[in-house]
Formats: sequence, structure tokens, C-alpha cells
Amino acid sequence: MAVVIAIANQKGGVGKTTTAVSLAAALANRGQRVLVIDADPQSNATSALGGERGSSGLYAALIGDAPLDAAIRPTNTPGLYLIPTDPSLAGAEVELVGLMAREYRMERAIDPLRGRFDIILVDCPPSLGLLTVNALTAADEVIVPVQCEYFALEGLGHLAKTIELVRTNLNTRLRLRGVVLTMFDARTNLSRDVEAEVRRHFENTFRSVIPRSVRLSEAPSHGEPIQRYDPLSAGARAYEELAEELLAQLRATVPGAAHGAS
Ligand code: ATP
Ligand code: MG
Repeated sequence: MAVVIAIANQKGGVGKTTTAVSLAAALANRGQRVLVIDADPQSNATSALGGERGSSGLYAALIGDAPLDAAIRPTNTPGLYLIPTDPSLAGAEVELVGLMAREYRMERAIDPLRGRFDIILVDCPPSLGLLTVNALTAADEVIVPVQCEYFALEGLGHLAKTIELVRTNLNTRLRLRGVVLTMFDARTNLSRDVEAEVRRHFENTFRSVIPRSVRLSEAPSHGEPIQRYDPLSAGARAYEELAEELLAQLRATVPGAAHGAS
């Protein structure tokens, strides 16, 4: 049964999509059956994985109760699958408001897919609206990317409170798996200060740190994850390490999770 992990932070441009796509590819390379669900109307994960826009199966599932499995697409990475989206998903944020069980719609759509994958990653939009709340309600765990920049911690309190509210009211399983430091620049004191500060506040910050890397920012325009675009780059290696760290944690804490080759 898949572990469902939401990649969330309401702050924009912190590396959510890059983390979802690169971590997913690194996990697939380790023999995991991985699904990325693009839950952001910007559909950046869809483009980054070379997926076709044009319709949103997630929209149809959230608003029309259509089954999600028909929307699953293979990617150019073996073992890595995608549920693509397109900008029409933005309508769901508004239309969900008036629906019954509006916070549980994504959970209902995702649960039937759990048997087919080991790990399902949900790439969230930069807001704490209903799409993100749906993702947190559907998820077992959440990973929070934090950019190593000034103001990095701003908003994290609000995010932590939202996670707590979801846990209390909607999904008691939800746990913060960890914070991932992204766009780390070893040449600056700022990056090191932010790292220290984040580690002080969140003891479950991953050991692996993602460096700022031009290759990581180039990969999406080629429609392939960094592991295919430049597998030897520092960015690719950092996400490989993160995948190892996550798998080791999952094996230790989630019964039956992340079995198979590594
Ligand atoms: P949004 O909130 O808009 O969904 P996001 O949190 O998903 O953004 P990304 O799209 O992953 O963030 O990253 C923002 C930008 O920074 C992108 O142009 C991406 O290519 C770039 N980027 C992400 N991680 C790195 C990195 N480690 N090094 C260099 N550039 C990066
Ligand atoms: Mg994104």
C-alpha cells in the first residue's frame, strides 16, 4: 500500500515542484513504484515530467467524482507515473467550496490507487486553500521544502498551524515527515544561518540539503527530471541522497512501506 506524501509550503518558488519531480525520479530509480499527482493549476510538475496538458483528470475526480486511475500516464522514467493537470484545476479551488465533504474529495480519489504504487507524491500549489487542504487530508505525511533565503521561516508557523488543524479535524494520520532545505548556497553565510535556524525549529529537518544548481533549474524545460537530464550533477546527487534518507525513514517507521530494491 502506497504512502501518500504531500509536498507543501504556501510560499511560492521554494522548490516544491523541483522536489516532487526529482525525489520521485530518484525513488523510481531505486525500484519504487512512484506516482506524482500534480495538484497545482500552474501545472509545473506536469511540464517538468514531459506530461501533456489539455485536461485535468484531477479536476474531474474532485468535482465530478470521476475515477483517477484513467488519468495515470507513464513518464520517460521507468516506474514513475504522473497524473497531469492543467490550468482548469484552478476552478476546483472555487467549486469545491460548495460541495459536500469538500476537504475529503482528493482522499476519496487517491485511496483506490494506493494498491498500485509504493509512494504517491502530491505537488501542492503555493497557497493554503482547498487544494492544499485536500492534499493534506489525503496524505499520510507532508514534506516541506524551505528555501535557504532570508524570510525562509516566515509563514512556516502558519503552515505548521494548518498541518495541526488538519490533523485535529480532518486527518489524524498526518505527520510532518520533514523539512527539506533547498537552494542552499555554501558560499553565503545566509544559507548557513538559515540552515541553523530551520534545524533549531524543526528537529526533523532532513540531513540531505539541496544545493542551488543551474542544472536543476534547466531540467524542467527539457521535460525530464534531473536524473535523466544530468544524473551526475550536484542537484541530482542531492536528491538521490534525500531519496535514500526518506526510504530509510519509511522502512523504520511505516510498516510494509518502501520495500523492494534500493
Ligand atoms: P510554486 O510555489 O510556484 O509552485 P515551487 O515551490 O514549486 O514554486 P519550484 O518551481 O520547484 O518551486 O522552484 C522555483 C524556481 O526555482 C524554478 O525556476 C526552479 O527551476 C528553481 N529551482 C528550484 N530548486 C532549485 C535549486 N536547487 N537550484 C536552482 N534553482 C532551483
Ligand atoms: Mg510548484
